[in-house]
Amino acid sequence: MSTPRRLLARLRDLMALGAAPLPEVVRLVAAELVSEVCSIYAMRPGDLLELVATEGLRLDAIGRTRLRVGEGIVGLVAAQGTVMNLADAQNHPAFVYRAETGEEKYASLLAVPIRRAGRTLGVIAVQNRTPRRYDAEEVEVLETVALLIAGSLAEAGASDGAAEGAAATMPRRFSGSRLSPGLAIGPVVIHGNSAAPRRLLADDPVAEQARLARAVERMQRGIDDLIEAQLPVGDAPREILEAYRLVAADTGWLKRVNEAIRGGLSAEAGVQRVAGELRDRMRRFTDPYLRERMADLEDLANRLLASLDESGGKAPEPVPPGAILLARRLGPAELLDWQARGIGGVVIEEGSPGAHAVILARALGLPTLGGARGILETAEEGDCAILDADEDQVILRPEGNVRQVYEYALETRHARQAGFATLRDKPAQTRDGTKVSLMLNVGLAMELAQLAATGAEGIGLFRTEIAMLARGAIVDGPEQAAVYARVLDAADGRPVLFRTLDLGGDKLLPGSGQPEEDNPAMGWRSLRIGLDRPVLLRRQLRALLLAAGGRELSVMFPMVATVAEFRAARALLMAEAARVRPAPSKLSVGTMVEVPALLWQLPALLREVDFLSVGTNDLMQFLFAADRGTPALAGRYDVLSPPVLDILANLHVLTAEAGVSLSICGEAASLPLEAMTMVGLGITQLSMPASAILPIKAMLADLDLPAFRAVLAAARRNPGHATSLRDPLAAWAREHGHTV
Ligand code: PEP
Ligand code: MG
Repeated sequence: MSTPRRLLARLRDLMALGAAPLPEVVRLVAAELVSEVCSIYAMRPGDLLELVATEGLRLDAIGRTRLRVGEGIVGLVAAQGTVMNLADAQNHPAFVYRAETGEEKYASLLAVPIRRAGRTLGVIAVQNRTPRRYDAEEVEVLETVALLIAGSLAEAGASDGAAEGAAATMPRRFSGSRLSPGLAIGPVVIHGNSAAPRRLLADDPVAEQARLARAVERMQRGIDDLIEAQLPVGDAPREILEAYRLVAADTGWLKRVNEAIRGGLSAEAGVQRVAGELRDRMRRFTDPYLRERMADLEDLANRLLASLDESGGKAPEPVPPGAILLARRLGPAELLDWQARGIGGVVIEEGSPGAHAVILARALGLPTLGGARGILETAEEGDCAILDADEDQVILRPEGNVRQVYEYALETRHARQAGFATLRDKPAQTRDGTKVSLMLNVGLAMELAQLAATGAEGIGLFRTEIAMLARGAIVDGPEQAAVYARVLDAADGRPVLFRTLDLGGDKLLPGSGQPEEDNPAMGWRSLRIGLDRPVLLRRQLRALLLAAGGRELSVMFPMVATVAEFRAARALLMAEAARVRPAPSKLSVGTMVEVPALLWQLPALLREVDFLSVGTNDLMQFLFAADRGTPALAGRYDVLSPPVLDILANLHVLTAEAGVSLSICGEAASLPLEAMTMVGLGITQLSMPASAILPIKAMLADLDLPAFRAVLAAARRNPGHATSLRDPLAAWAREHGHTV
């Protein structure tokens, strides 16, 4: 019998009666791997790793040798969750020497994290006197042992570093970052609390592989059913789920699960092992797109584990209304499952704006927070939580009076929303009758339903790159044309401003071959790529023209820095337009105003464009040289500052004179005081996410515009030393009953 199979078989015998006795495990592993030392460290409260079993180190060090997470090689392995394989450990910069262990004799070291459900429970390490690098098979064997003994370690009391005891009932506040706005209050439900597989080893690999094949088929069918059941045909976020389906069908990782089964593992343990390895590998990627796909893979692994349970398992039960889901990572199908069970909000520790589940949560209007580090270690199922995504925080086990205040806020919000609903079919206008056109910012087919739900006048910004990012690739021309045609069908004659691909910066496609840049936001991105790779841009422009099929079409270019760039882009559009039949009944061409240099080219630009749309998100970052993704800079510079208001006022005057239409589509347009100020400056086309349309309409309906205009003009005339006019404007708004 080969070493791995013999070791696994003996481990199974050891574990036949329950948790593996750790002293036996270390003895067995040291003997089978021909190592002088094998040690197990368990995680203890306070982020400490304690030596709990050893073969080869001094036995009286057990219970005494403790390392902080991040300290020494073992601490580093726990901190990073990755394997370390060192021929000369003592000279590694992270090495720390603990005299009580007597380990000075050992040169080489292989250390593997012991993990379960994404949590690090400890570390297992082997050491040898002679300097050597452990081979791939040895690494794999130790990883398998780590997987097998994770349960035993948990039973032996390994925590994952969280504080224990009285703290478990105290209120705790965690800050994070808003991924989808809103407020929710409810009991905590925890994602990924799936039990470790009961059977880790199997004697009959062939039977086990057959079980795996059946489970894969069941899983694929389940995914298809989910897509059909959850999403009305036509409005499906197909781009995301199709991408997910592709990962599910990818044979690469399934092949590796089959290999693990051949090595003696059960199908369940094989799936866990491969998912764990892939997770470790993906964790090291810096590319945000690839990191975000980590959650998809885990979603699939969990789904596959569930479908390996041939008894059918338990049907998912509904959760209490408003329940708040806590997850370390979450895949798109999992989000849809939980949504069907009735959750009211989500906290994803490793969530980021481009993750598939987050894109769906936004489209579904589920309040979602990213970050909130440590909450999973602290929360218990059923704990009450207040998820206040608007304020970037979640409060766990709030005190009674805090909870009451939030419950009141939530009720008020519901009442306001019920009131908003009555506004849906009314035109957006101020109290004195000034009409304002409110449009939607969207990027996924599934969001088109929001047109009817909000009564928006059209789509002021269709971010074409979102579907591609969700898909993970640039889709071909006919498929693009189909998506754009669906958008125009849904808009049903209402205007749609299609923005051409705005990739690059923080929106990267895998394998795009984009060079690493020091300042990607100011790098080779967006229209710059389109002009340098005209085939790509022309393909998209042709798709847009074909989708229009004789209807009106508006095309907007992002990140234009010079009039020459605009002209070059428009020339590509016109070249395509000359060939596509039927021609659009009207073709409007415009640009985003995001790069400040364009502001000094307005006379020339305004002679050439049909419309301008101000992207305040990028304009602010370039105007103030403040990266829009850096949390420490959030809120530091204000749209309501004299320079920005001067720019907007000037744009309004010049576009009006030139007969060019002007809108604002950056996030600022969705905030009540900012929107009020823009309307006060005379700008009456605002484009925003769906959640903001009715609140902004309600704000406008109450707005005494002439009075506000006077206040705004006075504040702009006399800013004093203020860097922002927010205070006087907000004071007036509050006095007049607005919530700002
Ligand atoms: C903007 O920059 O304000 C904008 C609307 O574009 P995006 O947020 O997609 O960069
Ligand atoms: Mg932008």
